Amino acid sequence: MSPPDKLLNAAHAIRPYLSELLNAPIAQKVSEQLENFLAVSGSGQDVNSQILTVLTEYSPTREWLRLYIEENYPVEAILKVMRTYAPLPDNAHAVESPRYLCPVASCHQTWYRSDRNQPIPNCPIHDVQMVRDSKGH
Ligand SMILES: [Zn+2]
Repeated sequence: MSPPDKLLNAAHAIRPYLSELLNAPIAQKVSEQLENFLAVSGSGQDVNSQILTVLTEYSPTREWLRLYIEENYPVEAILKVMRTYAPLPDNAHAVESPRYLCPVASCHQTWYRSDRNQPIPNCPIHDVQMVRDSKGH
């Protein structure tokens, strides 16, 4: 299967899961966009780049697409995999959620990065960018 075909398949395959990946209004918008692209995909129009743009705009669909295209996960397994690798922020032992600390020694602000696309925030008290906890867990 060539990559462009795979992208079209991904656009088909992801639609039933959009409501679980995105907020309702966005899920509906993305679903409609994909439907439009799929509708014209047989007419010789290059819709692959448009599909890619839509699916990579939001981190949940971008991650879904990565697991589907690059990791070749079966469609039914992807949500489960995503939930495994994006645990709740209070799960301090999750390997995939590195801990960030305020660099001010006396400050106890912590933050867990659940998605590597998330920007690192500033400490809400000191307004300096938080740094990764080098001590690990
Ligand atoms: Zn601080």
